[in-house]
Amino acid sequence: MFDKILIANRGEIACRVIMTARKMGVRTVAVYSDADAQSQHVSLADEAVHIGPSPVAESYLQADRIIQAALDTGAQAIHPGYGFLSENPDFVREVGAAGLTFIGPSASAIDAMGLKDAAKSLMVEAGVPVVPGYQGSNQDPAFLAAEADKIGYPILIKARAGGGGKGMRLVENPADFKSEFEAAQREGQSSFGDPICLIEKYIAQPRHVEIQVFGDQHGNVVHLFERDCSLQRRYQKVIEEAPAPDMPPAVRAAMGQAAVEAAKAIGYVGAGTVEFIADGSDGLKEDGFWFMEMNTRLQVEHPVTEAITGLDLVALQLRVAAGDALPFCQDDLSIDGWAFEARIYAEDVPKGFLPAIGTLNHLAFPAGTTFETGSVRIDSGIRSGDDISPFYDPMIAKVIVHGPDRRTALKMLTAALAQCHVGGATTNIAFLSALSKHTGFQAGNVDTNLIARDLDGLIDATTPVDHIIAAASVLSLGLVPTASGDPWQSLANWRHWSNATYTSRILHDAEVILRKIEPLSDGRFVVHDGDTSRTIGIVHKAGTQYTLDLDGVQSTLDLVVQDRSIFAFQDGRSFAFEIPDPLAGHAEGADGGDNVFAPMPGMVTIVSAKPGQSVTEGDSLFVLEAMKMEHALPAPRDGIVAEVLVQPGMQVVDGDLLLQMEPEDE
Ligand code: ADP
Ligand code: ADP
Ligand code: MG
Repeated sequence: MFDKILIANRGEIACRVIMTARKMGVRTVAVYSDADAQSQHVSLADEAVHIGPSPVAESYLQADRIIQAALDTGAQAIHPGYGFLSENPDFVREVGAAGLTFIGPSASAIDAMGLKDAAKSLMVEAGVPVVPGYQGSNQDPAFLAAEADKIGYPILIKARAGGGGKGMRLVENPADFKSEFEAAQREGQSSFGDPICLIEKYIAQPRHVEIQVFGDQHGNVVHLFERDCSLQRRYQKVIEEAPAPDMPPAVRAAMGQAAVEAAKAIGYVGAGTVEFIADGSDGLKEDGFWFMEMNTRLQVEHPVTEAITGLDLVALQLRVAAGDALPFCQDDLSIDGWAFEARIYAEDVPKGFLPAIGTLNHLAFPAGTTFETGSVRIDSGIRSGDDISPFYDPMIAKVIVHGPDRRTALKMLTAALAQCHVGGATTNIAFLSALSKHTGFQAGNVDTNLIARDLDGLIDATTPVDHIIAAASVLSLGLVPTASGDPWQSLANWRHWSNATYTSRILHDAEVILRKIEPLSDGRFVVHDGDTSRTIGIVHKAGTQYTLDLDGVQSTLDLVVQDRSIFAFQDGRSFAFEIPDPLAGHAEGADGGDNVFAPMPGMVTIVSAKPGQSVTEGDSLFVLEAMKMEHALPAPRDGIVAEVLVQPGMQVVDGDLLLQMEPEDE
């Protein structure tokens, strides 16, 4: 076994590899870009080497610098993770030329599978069923259109160098062929530097079923069963599971055999995935699946396979790369239970799955294992306070659950997602949560169009419901003990203010939400919204958990108050509110005015203004402590202070008059 390896990647996969290496007593070297200097993979590794600026082309794709870092630190092998250089045969050759071991397949195996057209031709030779189509070199549009007619519509045009769902075009109508072909060529050229496309039959009611394979340097190849990755959006995986729903044992055996043949055909060593498309219109059939492509690396969704097999695929990768024989044969392997993985991304689902960025000020996951099989497993390379930057994939975490059967496991997924609380960036958690409750999905009726078909129902309105607004409004006034707050102080505040009605002002999506809040003597509040009023009680349970009583109906929710943000989480949905900056609001409203009002309830801690004093607009006159923060209140204009109405230590409420200026000379 190696003494030390370098991980040529970042984020969750770098962390995941480091954790297994550590367990095996293998020392680790991380590499990092400017943006990642403080990131988790750097702190987890034994050593870390800076390899360049934030853009991937200047850091994580810099093969020479990465190899040099390995040589400088005495690492003997390089694990590429997924993405970046993981499927780059030139990198594999350079690693070898530097006298290092690449933890993955040979350059020639990657070459063989790198382009989808050549891979398909190779598979035809190996006797593996491929999707009917044309994968030759003739790129004449008229010729290809004629081939498409022969195949029969709908057809799919694929850039042969494509990946990650890019460079693919579905064509349903022959009239659209030419324009779609040209578009696919352009996308292939711009994203992968290669315009060549293949065309193939678009399989009706497609299911994406892939087989995990493993080869060693002694000619052994086994498969670790299948994963169903049919829940996709725009050809990208969203939730994966293992095994595949309603998989007949004979089809599993046939697919597994085909995948092993595919791997053997290219002398495959290490972890790989053979992706098949299956026709799911009438159940999975032995003659109803076709090779799409092979991913010559560890897959994002490998943990579901780890869950059902009990194996650590990264440990196996290291052992195989170090020359060990696979420690089992096909007959030793079996499936235990059911596993799901959901990919949590910083993205705005209602806005068309737009990647989001932000600082994850609040991050809480369900209790579970990390980078290790367990009933709930959270794989993440991000910690509370880290940024989701625009430079990299906006994945926040992978939530993996493992249960005794599909139904139980899916319920566990729903429950786990409800405990994933992310504040500071928009995420797809509510979407994943809705998906986990989709009746078709629950019944195992998966196909790659499920999400698109039911998108409207899966896109949760992000508009907060009444009781969430009520809770956030009360919280914004500092009237209930908060997770971060000192309950005694809040209680004291409440007593002091108990006879008043307050106006809360919070922002949601830049919209101002106003509520009148009337504390009751029993600790509950009446929240008035125009003519409607509801009585709510908020009781802090533990941590971020609260019990909410809404007109006598109880529910639990999680609330987090941080600086000027309030995050509310309930049943997989999350809402973010801002408490407007009292200074900004105040300066606007009082600009040039004669009075200074308290912009929010709080305690006056410092009074620097004195009657008769000459002040300049913006000078700090008071300091108000509210929401655990100090707020300086500025002079509204140049002039003379006439009267100061408060002293240090006084509690004030929103709108209290604090100071009056001498009238301005006209
Ligand atoms: P998986 O089946 O492992 O999810 P994906 O195709 O989604 O495979 O890709 C996994 C990772 O590899 C993602 O981070 C994706 O951005 C990256 N990736 C995939 N194809 C390419 C490519 N051709 N070039 C660069 N990165 C890629
Ligand atoms: P990528 O390299 O981007 O992963 P793939 O060839 O694996 O490209 O295809 C991505 C996805 O597109 C598949 O997971 C599947 O959902 C869909 N797809 C690919 N080929 C077909 C096909 N012939 N018929 C129907 N869907 C397909
Ligand atoms: Mg694929």
